Amino acid sequence: MKKLESLQNWVQDQHLDVVYISDPNSVAYFTNFISDAHERILGLFVFADAEPFMFAPELSIGSAKKAGWTGDIYGYLDHQKPFAMIADLIKQRTSHYSVWGLEKDSLPVERFELVREQFPNATFPANVSECVRQMKLFKTPGEINLMEEAGEQADLAFTLGFNAIQEGRTEQDVVAEIQYGLMKQGIMEMSFDTIVQAGANAANPHGGPEKDKIQPNQMVLFDLGTNNKGYMSDASRTVAFGQLSDKQREIYDVCLEAQLTAQDAVKPGITAAQLDKVARDIITKAGYGEYFIHRLGHGIGTSTHEFPSIMEGNNMELQPGMCFSIEPGIYIPNFAGVRIEDCVHVTENGCKAFTHTSKALNHIPVH
Ligand code: MN
Ligand code: MN
Repeated sequence: MKKLESLQNWVQDQHLDVVYISDPNSVAYFTNFISDAHERILGLFVFADAEPFMFAPELSIGSAKKAGWTGDIYGYLDHQKPFAMIADLIKQRTSHYSVWGLEKDSLPVERFELVREQFPNATFPANVSECVRQMKLFKTPGEINLMEEAGEQADLAFTLGFNAIQEGRTEQDVVAEIQYGLMKQGIMEMSFDTIVQAGANAANPHGGPEKDKIQPNQMVLFDLGTNNKGYMSDASRTVAFGQLSDKQREIYDVCLEAQLTAQDAVKPGITAAQLDKVARDIITKAGYGEYFIHRLGHGIGTSTHEFPSIMEGNNMELQPGMCFSIEPGIYIPNFAGVRIEDCVHVTENGCKAFTHTSKALNHIPVH
């Protein structure tokens, strides 16, 4: 577990005694144990001078071991007091527990107060979230493989979705067809709620699929992804259902040029802000700048949105192993929306996309 070793080194470098990894997503990152603990407590405790241990609901212990956790693991039953038990376990393990690191971006205040109750003399100076974010910026070849598989699943989802568009069907029908088709192939989990939006609905980038029937001669926007063993895909395509007007066609072409040019511009050393500008300049010059209302992209990995953020003001240089989306969009209220998105990983001399569904305008005939 190289990642856990890196975390232990960080604990020592920061002169901490204890780090409490509380976010199930981070527990999975360090241990390979993927679990939604719901309201129960799942934690990984890492020390400067002792071996780490996992603390989990009793009913999860078998799965944690099956996932490959070979360190100590302690369970609790629903009627027991987890933080009192955790405190005892820590005090048995080490005599140093006064300086803590916490995942400050996600630990609920209520749980923080329960920790503090057990350790009234402790201080909590370190934000482990920053360390985890920094580690997650760079993906290992094994992680990239899992994301490539997730990308293949997203490509399959597009095929299922394009085949499902028919007159009389609603956006929600098409979502159902996609997810049913994936599940029949054993792909059980999406990385976020699948978006299918037709016509003017697509002008609301994060709106959901509606009950409206998909009308001919509109564009239909798909945004979807799967969760492959804890690693996500995320991709968008916009297709033509029937004939498009010149203006519909124009916004598609502008968005496509922005997407392709930006994807082509990725190489080690370019900054996130420069990359955003590559795409934004194309859309602005074409007269649609005011309709591109979000950043160019976001990092992706064990979560759908992480670092790096591809946006104005972020002068981080992109480097091999970083993974992020390139997703320009043009959203004209009461008219139409277009978004075209691939996630990529930076290579030594460019980048490689995780999804490969064609971005040339796909015409789906109206029968
Ligand atoms: Mn997306
Ligand atoms: Mn995205």
